[in-house]
Amino acid sequence: MPVTGRSQFNLFDTADDLALGKETYVGVLKESEGQLVRTGPEVELVRKVVDRIAAVSDDPGFEWEANVIRDPEMVNAWCMPGGKIAVYTGILPICQGETGLAVVLGHEIAHAIARHGTSRMSQAVATQIGLEVAAASDKRLAQYQAELAAAVELLVLMPFGRDDELEADHIGLIYMARAGYDPREAVAFWRRMAAASGGGGPPEFLSTHPSNENRIAAIEALLPQALAEYEAATRAGTRK
Ligand SMILES: [Zn+2]
Repeated sequence: MPVTGRSQFNLFDTADDLALGKETYVGVLKESEGQLVRTGPEVELVRKVVDRIAAVSDDPGFEWEANVIRDPEMVNAWCMPGGKIAVYTGILPICQGETGLAVVLGHEIAHAIARHGTSRMSQAVATQIGLEVAAASDKRLAQYQAELAAAVELLVLMPFGRDDELEADHIGLIYMARAGYDPREAVAFWRRMAAASGGGGPPEFLSTHPSNENRIAAIEALLPQALAEYEAATRAGTRK
């Protein structure tokens, strides 16, 4: 892993991430066609932030693309394997501008670069193969392959686990700082997310784990490192 130095189990290579993300992205965009924001300040800002963060990231040669989907109820954003991003308009009021958006997009870009999607799929595939072997082989190969293909498709958009979320927070924090965005905004952003969840069920972007307090505490512990990156970036004139 870049930034965290953790090692990962992954049966796919980055070309697979690219191909898989691309294919799934086309399908999702088609489903959301009527809500796609094609021009205007929202989509311009999202693309500007993606460009700035991708430029300072450990980009393995992904094809970055970002779209905005108009859905005020959807407090969410995601990045598929290979760099295909969607931001729902429901998260924009919580971002409160470019730096807050950099928190969200830093986190999403980090998921893609850390290859959390295909790593999760690899674990599922390994489990599936293990089960197949254990269950003896009276099941036909074709049926097995069809199941696996269906699983792969589902997993691309499944929520990440707690460890992946915390790792994306960490890597994203460093990337936003390198891009010249003040990383202290990450703490403020997650506090606003917590407030938006209003004690009821958390919005989807949050629903997959670290509790708000754990998440904010982990980010605060990383702030000295992120601020050093931010100051170096600011000195180098990365900040615009
Ligand atoms: Zn996440």
